[in-house]
Amino acid sequence: MKVLVLNCGSSSVKFQVIETSLEMIEANSDATLARGLVEKIGLSDSRLAIEVEGRKPYQEISEILEHRTAVERVLKVLVHPEHGVLKSVKELEAVGHRVVHGGEKVASSVLVTPEVEAMIEECVVLAPLHNPHNLRGLNAARGLLPGVPHVAVFDTAFHQSMPPMAFIYGLPYELYSRHRIRRYGFHGTSHRFVSIRTAKLLGRPLEDVRIVTCHLGNGCSMAAVDRGHSVDTTMGFTPLEGLLMGTRSGDLDAAILPWVMTMEDVTLSQLNAMLNKHSGLYGISGVSSDMREIEHACATGNKRARLAFDIFCYRIRKYVGAYAAAMGGIDAVTFTGGIGENSSLVRQTSLAGMEFLGIELDEEANRVAPRGKEILVSKGGSKVAVALIPTNEERVIARDTVRVLGGVMPSFAVPGTEAPR
Ligand code: ADP
Repeated sequence: MKVLVLNCGSSSVKFQVIETSLEMIEANSDATLARGLVEKIGLSDSRLAIEVEGRKPYQEISEILEHRTAVERVLKVLVHPEHGVLKSVKELEAVGHRVVHGGEKVASSVLVTPEVEAMIEECVVLAPLHNPHNLRGLNAARGLLPGVPHVAVFDTAFHQSMPPMAFIYGLPYELYSRHRIRRYGFHGTSHRFVSIRTAKLLGRPLEDVRIVTCHLGNGCSMAAVDRGHSVDTTMGFTPLEGLLMGTRSGDLDAAILPWVMTMEDVTLSQLNAMLNKHSGLYGISGVSSDMREIEHACATGNKRARLAFDIFCYRIRKYVGAYAAAMGGIDAVTFTGGIGENSSLVRQTSLAGMEFLGIELDEEANRVAPRGKEILVSKGGSKVAVALIPTNEERVIARDTVRVLGGVMPSFAVPGTEAPR
């Protein structure tokens, strides 16, 4: 079936049309028919762009003031005789929506019902920068395509299998029981997809393997995937925790915050911006949040860029060790995301000297690894495999949509993962 996948941000709508089915999922043969983006929603020069395999990319600039108009334009371009891929929107049999936060109530992807919509609304307080826009897109698409099922796929759902010892903070317990302050984790669709594909690449059942997945893009997170279940992940209550990222600090001593507020006389919103927008690779290097530019600056002798790069890789290495301990050993380390898939230097530096854990990188295979391919870059005899798996969150959303509609969507959570009330 043809599934429209929508990922709605504050001023953007990313979309794809994916042809998939339960059989195509099994054969890994589902196909992206079109992909595109509406950006600068709310401005007079909003841009809609669409790419279709084998055709010149097409774009149009016009005023798009809100999400409903954006989705309307997406549907219009999809049926355009020259630039589109559909004869009629009736060919779309379902819509899959990315939703960032599902709180503690969802541990799988689900068919959107009024109850599910209310639950996403309830989670707005946990993800005020994301869930409202996801909801806006959902409402727009349901209004415009009322006759088809809509499925919600959550960034947090895969990590609902974490045990309480991994998700409860060392804070007064009332903050959890009253406000649900706990670790949730994000990038769940990507961690799930690449762990499944890694097991396939190894030719082993997912239920047999312990994988550390590293999603390294502008936002970065790692997960410990124990026999198909996420048992720990580096992002927490928000996507700020864990690894060093493009502009986010990752792990830090929270006592720094009141100290900085006093000494630097900054407001809460300035503090938030400092942590999320002015830290990470960018904050340390003063050069850029973009790993390509960091690597370039390192090569030209920039010492702060080198320090930022080293911190980035050191944290990855620390978490590989931590997750090996958490799972009682590992069978594979998987890299994905713009940095994970493309930076041989990050992979090599992060895993250097980890032979004691059984990780032996094949430096040459790592260096020349082709883009966009699922491939192993560890030595033949390495106890732990090192895999590169291109992530494809839209494909996971389309696949989950088909699975939910086919009644074969498993819950990711395992029994016994609830914390005491
Ligand atoms: P997002 O999280 O926004 O989806 P991506 O997954 O596209 O981001 O990753 C963006 C990051 O990938 C940037 O830091 C970019 O510099 C990095 N990247 C892309 N290609 C390369 C490359 N060849 N070498 C090093 N880093 C790269």
